[in-house]
Amino acid sequence: MKSIYGMSLKDLENYFESIDGKKFRSHQVFDWLYRKKVTSFEEMTNVKKDVIDKLKEDFSFNTIELIQVERDELTNKYLFRLNDGEHIEAVLMKHDYGNSICVSSQVGCNMGCKFCESGRRKKVRNLLAGEIVEQILEVEKDLNEKITHVVMMGIGEPFDNYEEITKFIEIINDNLGLGIGARHITVSTCGIVPKIKEFADFPYQVNLAISLHAPNDELRSKIMPISKAYSIKELMDALKEYYDKTSRRLSFEYVMLDGVNDTEECAIELANLLKGLNCYVNLIPYNETENIEFKRSRSDKINKFYDILKKNDIDVTKRREFGGNISAACGQLRSKKEEQ
Ligand code: SF4
Repeated sequence: MKSIYGMSLKDLENYFESIDGKKFRSHQVFDWLYRKKVTSFEEMTNVKKDVIDKLKEDFSFNTIELIQVERDELTNKYLFRLNDGEHIEAVLMKHDYGNSICVSSQVGCNMGCKFCESGRRKKVRNLLAGEIVEQILEVEKDLNEKITHVVMMGIGEPFDNYEEITKFIEIINDNLGLGIGARHITVSTCGIVPKIKEFADFPYQVNLAISLHAPNDELRSKIMPISKAYSIKELMDALKEYYDKTSRRLSFEYVMLDGVNDTEECAIELANLLKGLNCYVNLIPYNETENIEFKRSRSDKINKFYDILKKNDIDVTKRREFGGNISAACGQLRSKKEEQ
């Protein structure tokens, strides 16, 4: 049964319109869900009994269950069981500017990036918008604090689940929903070109991050199979089109793999590729895992790479590290449950 948290305000208006013509009930229900944070339909005391019964018939309340939390100084990793017995993870990072959550968008992932633990398991299914919203609600409940920032960089490729992730954004951005500002929401993609073009018309000012990880097709196709479907030229053309339509600054993720993509030549090539684009590059020290042979670049190589980009007027940051001790860092998410 569908999660009530997968319904946007508009969806609920349409729903109530169709059952008794009283659209205002959508506001009442949203208020109970996101302000008063009730955990059952019965607690919605200003909603009529027959309407409660209808809601119970049509929707379920909790479609994910929190079964484990691993805690580090600045990071918590959450393991959830879904209604069909599958498992997913989400990660909380405590920043000085707020609480940021990295949510999963699929069970498994078909993109097969060679350095990524999450992609070792093929996609089993897309998550529904409600299952993604509930990740945030469960973490807020655990923390007893508000989530202020959301990144879609957990398990899955968000643009391979376009309908549900855009619905998810609509729900969490709604002021009557979780009220998370669009500029505090980031969608990350490995570069599904048609969806980048479609996303340019998505009417929310959210951030787009591109997992680039290599400055040319030859290297990129060795570590990211998506590169065989869309060349870097096609990707960059789509991003320019996206920027022309949205004027939103782009960010590029670049994981630093020892001896693979961390040479000075790669840095120069990357600088040339991005020259003139309103963007910044996020260099990510690779988080090694026991199942994948890639190694982390030495810090002097990361620094050199960083300097070359800087010298070439490319805005660049080195990502602060979170969650390596509990396998909650970037590219490490993969439920141990799936390996049992
Ligand atoms: S990096 Fe992202 S897109 Fe690539 S396999 Fe991992 S989860 Fe999928």
